[in-house]
Amino acid sequence: MKYTQPDLPYAKDALAPVISAETIDYHYGKHEKAYIDNLNKMIVGTEFEDMDLEDVILHATGALYNNAAQAWNHIFYFFSFSPDGGGEPTGALGDAIRSQFGSFDNFKKEFEEAGVKLFGSGWVWLSKDNDGKLFITQEPNGGNPMTSGLIPLLTFDVWEHAYYIDYKNLRGDYLKKLWDIVDWDLVESRF
Ligand code: MN
Repeated sequence: MKYTQPDLPYAKDALAPVISAETIDYHYGKHEKAYIDNLNKMIVGTEFEDMDLEDVILHATGALYNNAAQAWNHIFYFFSFSPDGGGEPTGALGDAIRSQFGSFDNFKKEFEEAGVKLFGSGWVWLSKDNDGKLFITQEPNGGNPMTSGLIPLLTFDVWEHAYYIDYKNLRGDYLKKLWDIVDWDLVESRF
């Protein structure tokens, strides 16, 4: 299988000022693309050549794992946003968040703190287990909670390339603004 980079479901300037067109040019246009290009080069002639991307992530190690997971994580990240996003989750996911974290505001606070405190590069995740219990986790580098048996619902990229153009060194400001573009209908559909 050859992996293709999906088009974004919005114009490249549609998420501004939360994520600028320039950040999209670099983050989606160069970083995400490079992970997918590297993945396609590395799987040629290997047992991974015809696997679904999720299976590559669950079975590969080293550089192949890193590129496969970074490809998946970036596609998932960019598809979690919408220029019409923001607000609060409703339905079963909204209920689960309020029940487990006390309030939506407290959930956001804990999620932002996990992202700010993650040392170096990585991702902060909201996931669920098979019983619907929610987890906020930090994953370094290209980590993905699927490898721990969890089902990813939402992720914020905290690699510097995700925010340095728009927020310089202020990772916390970037995380706080991302809530304005989260497509909760889509996140709910993953729950
Ligand atoms: Mn990234």
